[in-house]
Amino acid sequence: MGADQLPDDPQQPATRAITAGREHSGHALAPALWASSVWQSTGLADANRRATGTRSEEFYGRIANPTVSSFENAVAALEGAESSLAFASGMGAISTVVLALCSAGDHIVAQRQLYSATLAFLQGPCARFGIEVSYVDGTEPGSFAAAIRPGRTMLVIAETPSNPLLELIDLDELGALRGPIKLVDSTFATPLGQQPLAHGVDLSLHSATKGIAGHNDATLGVISGSRELLDSIWSYSVLHGATPSPFDALNALRGIRTLAVRTTQQTASALHIAETLSRHRGVAAVHYPGLHTHPQHDLAKRQMNHFGTVLTIDLAGGQPAAERVLANLRLVRVATSLGGPETIVCHARTTTHVSLTDAEAAGQGVGPGLLRISVGLEDCADLLADLTQALSPT
Ligand SMILES: *Cc1c(COP(=O)(O)O)cnc(C)c1O
Repeated sequence: MGADQLPDDPQQPATRAITAGREHSGHALAPALWASSVWQSTGLADANRRATGTRSEEFYGRIANPTVSSFENAVAALEGAESSLAFASGMGAISTVVLALCSAGDHIVAQRQLYSATLAFLQGPCARFGIEVSYVDGTEPGSFAAAIRPGRTMLVIAETPSNPLLELIDLDELGALRGPIKLVDSTFATPLGQQPLAHGVDLSLHSATKGIAGHNDATLGVISGSRELLDSIWSYSVLHGATPSPFDALNALRGIRTLAVRTTQQTASALHIAETLSRHRGVAAVHYPGLHTHPQHDLAKRQMNHFGTVLTIDLAGGQPAAERVLANLRLVRVATSLGGPETIVCHARTTTHVSLTDAEAAGQGVGPGLLRISVGLEDCADLLADLTQALSPT
């Protein structure tokens, strides 16, 4: 198992993305799709062993699946983790972790700027189940520590870079917190962009729907951490039932094979587009951790191996300007996701952040002219030509 060899594994991450997750496929170079949801046992004792084991292979699909295990092992190898656990979606991962670790009367400290469905889960179901959540500006040094209630705070939730303004959380500061479990949603960075566990964070989480699968053909989530913590989350997870589809795990494992080359090109294009649009008259602000003007650019250089495939621009002309740009784009498509081969743009205020009140949106910096751009794999010059013609139509 790739993950078990990690301490003296000399391979670079791009190589590990190729070598990891090859169990369960025999001598086939491509991963095998195990569609079966049930396996035969050899008799009573064997069935009993599998029924009472932890994450027993070849027993029942909700417990474990060989294709999913291969995907999990590949992610663990990239995250530098003892273990990974996959889910039916990123939200399946987040909701399972929260409900596995927190009970009525417990307390969570969460970053204010979070993926909108994560925020909705904390504000809705968590409140309903008596789990209290305090929100902090995670970019403010000491803010997480100050909000922790010793003995009551079970979980600290951070997201870096954050959606949609690409604010960063200092992973060293987060990892140094004592008491609660520290969870980082690392989706926007991909497992090659940063490794939260190396900074002392307990759980690194990805919506693998995004850059990991990378082709808009899988809906999947994954967490990574110590085997002990993951085994305990797994024992709740089999009851929660956000079980990943083996087919989606297969697509995501195939995505991992090309993750390094994809993110290399996408981040290079994202930086070039960010720099060029920073000089455009119609653009009031560009948010991208790779820009010198990003308030946390030094932190980005310290904790990130690349600056990510997503940038956000704020149009001087507000929503009418955003509407015009979306209508004028020819190559860039209007869609709400990130990390795929197609460059896509979404207007945050009317889609991902539509459920916020105006005051909440303003508090999060989600103005009417904000566009999130997920940079794909098209030629960068073609992308720039399309974006600039849409920003300044003739
Ligand atoms: C998409 C996303 C999620 C949710 O993942 P799903 O696979 O859509 O459930 C969580 N966090 C971040 C940062 C995301 O981009």
